[in-house]
Amino acid sequence: MESEGLFVVADGMGGYAGGERASKLAVKEIEGAFRNRAFEGEAHEGIPKPASELALAIQMANSSILETAKQNKELEGMGTTVCAARFSANKRRVYLAHVGDSRCYRLRKGELKQMTADHTMADHGVKGPAAAHLSRAVGVWPTVPIDVVMGVPRTDDAFLLCSDGLTKMLKDDEIASVLRGEPDPKKAVQGLIDAANGRGGKDNITVVLVRVVSTDTAREARS
Ligand code: CA
Repeated sequence: MESEGLFVVADGMGGYAGGERASKLAVKEIEGAFRNRAFEGEAHEGIPKPASELALAIQMANSSILETAKQNKELEGMGTTVCAARFSANKRRVYLAHVGDSRCYRLRKGELKQMTADHTMADHGVKGPAAAHLSRAVGVWPTVPIDVVMGVPRTDDAFLLCSDGLTKMLKDDEIASVLRGEPDPKKAVQGLIDAANGRGGKDNITVVLVRVVSTDTAREARS
């Protein structure tokens, strides 16, 4: 959503058609909240408004998915991850909000840094195969705790939002080397997807790459 500097990755879960439905609903609901400037619920105190709005929009997505699941037996238990980034050019900030194991990374001067922490059962001391299960998801419970991270983007930073279909196949340094080797965002995204598929591509892969340019460059690009 270019007008809002808003980028969202949602990775659905739940059998039958549930996962796909949940992730689509999440993106639609978040987009709608920003388009209509209608954020339901109580603003989160102590965090900047752009971050609070992002969290409210995710909470709205949570309610919408839960409601839809209640009305359709076969969609029961569906949910989705959400990883969202909202860039404010005026404030020179990026606000990240996330639930689940979709991640945001930042590439700065060739160094890759994971900006979000996965919400998995491993956090709760669970070991073995169940450790990878999500401990939080959007649309499963009446409210969902959302992590919010703020950052100060610099010119030439790249922000990567991705589903676990990418990060389960590629190590961080492999992701970094693809990003370092390809300055064009579209080609870099394709390069990451190809690399993950080359490893077996066991899951759907969703990748969004945002490259930060100076406001002068952005103005030129638009005109
Ligand atoms: Ca997945």
